[in-house]
Amino acid sequence: MNVQASQFIPTNGRGAFRSGADFLANLASTPRSVFVDGERVSDPSEHPAFREAARQIAGLYDFAFAPENLDIMTYVEPETGWRALRCFQIPKTHADLAAKRVAAEKWAEQTFGLMGRTPDHVANFFTGYAAKPSVFAKSGPQYAERVVNFYKHLRDNHLYVAYAIVPPQIDRSKSASKQSEPDLYAGVVREVDGGIIVKGGQQLATGGVFADYLHISSIHPLQPGDEAYAISVAIPMSAPGLKLYSRRAFAQQATNAFDYPLSSRFDETDSFVVLDDVFVPWEHVFIYRDIELCRDQWWKTPSHTYGNHQAQARFATKLRFLLGMAKKMNEATGNDSAPPVMVQMGELAALASIVEGMHQAQEALATFDDEGVLWPSKSMLYAVMALQGEINPRMIDIVRELTGAAMISLPSSVKDFDNPEAAEDIARFYRSSNMSARDRVALMRLAWDFIGTEFGNRHQQYEKFYGGASFIVKMNMFRAYDFKRAGALVDRALTLPPVEGA
Ligand SMILES: Cc1cc2nc3c(=O)[nH]c(=O)nc-3n(C[C@H](O)[C@H](O)[C@H](O)COP(=O)(O)OP(=O)(O)OC[C@H]3O[C@@H](n4cnc5c(N)ncnc54)[C@H](O)[C@@H]3O)c2cc1C
Repeated sequence: MNVQASQFIPTNGRGAFRSGADFLANLASTPRSVFVDGERVSDPSEHPAFREAARQIAGLYDFAFAPENLDIMTYVEPETGWRALRCFQIPKTHADLAAKRVAAEKWAEQTFGLMGRTPDHVANFFTGYAAKPSVFAKSGPQYAERVVNFYKHLRDNHLYVAYAIVPPQIDRSKSASKQSEPDLYAGVVREVDGGIIVKGGQQLATGGVFADYLHISSIHPLQPGDEAYAISVAIPMSAPGLKLYSRRAFAQQATNAFDYPLSSRFDETDSFVVLDDVFVPWEHVFIYRDIELCRDQWWKTPSHTYGNHQAQARFATKLRFLLGMAKKMNEATGNDSAPPVMVQMGELAALASIVEGMHQAQEALATFDDEGVLWPSKSMLYAVMALQGEINPRMIDIVRELTGAAMISLPSSVKDFDNPEAAEDIARFYRSSNMSARDRVALMRLAWDFIGTEFGNRHQQYEKFYGGASFIVKMNMFRAYDFKRAGALVDRALTLPPVEGA
C-alpha cells in the first residue's frame, strides 16, 4: 500500500469510507417499493429474495476500503484530497484507464463476474458525463453544472446508481409519443414548483433493488415529437411513486446453498420500473426535453465506453471462471489430458483470451479528444461487444459438450448425503479418481448453476442484451470502424500501375 497516499484518508465524515455495514444500514433505512411474488418489500436487506445479493454488494465496499486494497480500488481525488472509488476517476492517462480496469476486475472477481450492475457500472457512465460537461452545456449551462455536481455527490459519498434506459416493449413499431397512452414510456408529464413530475414504465433496472439512486433516461432513439421522453434524471430509491417489479427471484427458489451455490448468493435481480408521478427536483434533471442531447450523452461523452469498459472486466472475469470450472471438471472425469478435450479447451481458452485482449486493447488504443478527454478505443470495445452474444453461447456449448451427463447424473439434493444407505452408494459411485463424492458433486452443482439453472440461463440472456440488442451493437461497430483506411487499400489496388505484358 502507498502509505503516503493513504494519509489522505479523511476521518471527519466528509469523504469518509463506506463500509458494507454502512451500505446495509442505509438499505434498511431508506424504504423502497419493490414487488416480488405479490409482496411489497421495503427493506431488501432482510428479504430472502434479495438479502444474500445485498450482502455480496456490502462485501464489495468492505473489499474496496480494506487498507490492503485501497490503492487498487480507490484513488486520491485531486479536487478534494479524499479517496474515491476508481470507477469515479476521470482517466487522464492510459495508466489511469488500466488502473480502472484492474479495480473493476478485482470487484468482478469477488462475485466471479456474476453480478453485472455492481456499483461501478453506472458510476462509470456518470464519470463519462462529468468528463464532458460541454456536451450538456449545449442545452444550457445549468445542465452541465447539475450533472457534474451530481457526479461529485456520488463520487464523494461512494454511492450506488442503477439505471433503466430502455423503454418497455409495448409497441416498438411506434415512437414514444405515438404509444396508445402518452405516459406508457417514462417521460415528463408536468412541471411543478422546484422540479418536474415523471411518469411511465422503463426497463430493466438490474441491481436497482439495492441502489441508492436510479438513473432514468432513454438510449433508444427518439423521434421529433418525443421531447417529453428526452430526459435524463436521477431518482433516490425511496422517492414516493417509484416502484420496482422484480423478476422471479432465483435466490428464493434456491433450496440450499450446496445445490445452488450461485443462485443463492449472486442473484442481482432485474426489475421493471414504474414511475407513478415521481417528483424530480431540478438539481437532478440533467437533460430536459432535448432529443439531441439525450442521444449525445451516450455517444459524445465517453459514458458508454467507460461503463462498458467496466462491463468487459466483469465479462472477462466470468469467462476465466468458466475456464477454471471446465478444467476442474475434465480433471474430475479423467479426460483432462485426452487430446480431443485439450483441443476443445484450447478453443475455450482462445475465446476467453480474445475477450481479455480486446479489453486491454481498449486502453492501449485509447485516444484523447480535442478537450483532452481520454476515450477507450470504440472499435475495440464494440468489436468484442458485437461478438459477445456469439462467443458466450459458443463457450457454454463447448462446456456442455465436454461434460456429458456430469452436471445431471447427481444426487437429487444435498439431503441424500444424510441418508446412510444413499450416502454409502454416493460415496462409492459419485466420486472420481481425484475427488471425494461430495467435492465432485459440489463442483458439478456449481457448473450446473452457472450453465443450466434459471439463474444460469438468465445470465445467457444478460450477456446477449445487457449492452443492447446485437443489431444495435453491430451498428455501433459500423460507426466506429475505420472504413476510410480499408477503402484506401481498395482504391490503391484499383489504381495499381499496369503489369507489363499482362
Ligand atoms: C438480464 C438483462 C438485464 C438487463 N439490465 C438492464 C439494465 O440494468 N438497465 C437497462 O436500462 N437495461 C437493461 N437491460 C435491457 C437491455 O438494455 C435491453 O434488453 C436491450 O436494450 C434490448 O432491448 P429489448 O429487450 O427491448 O429488445 P428489442 O429492442 O425489442 O430487440 C429484441 C430483438 O428484436 C429484434 N429487433 C428489434 N428491432 C430491430 C431492428 N430495428 N432491427 C433488427 N432487429 C430488430 C432483434 O432480434 C432483437 O434482438 C437488461 C436486459 C436483460 C435481458
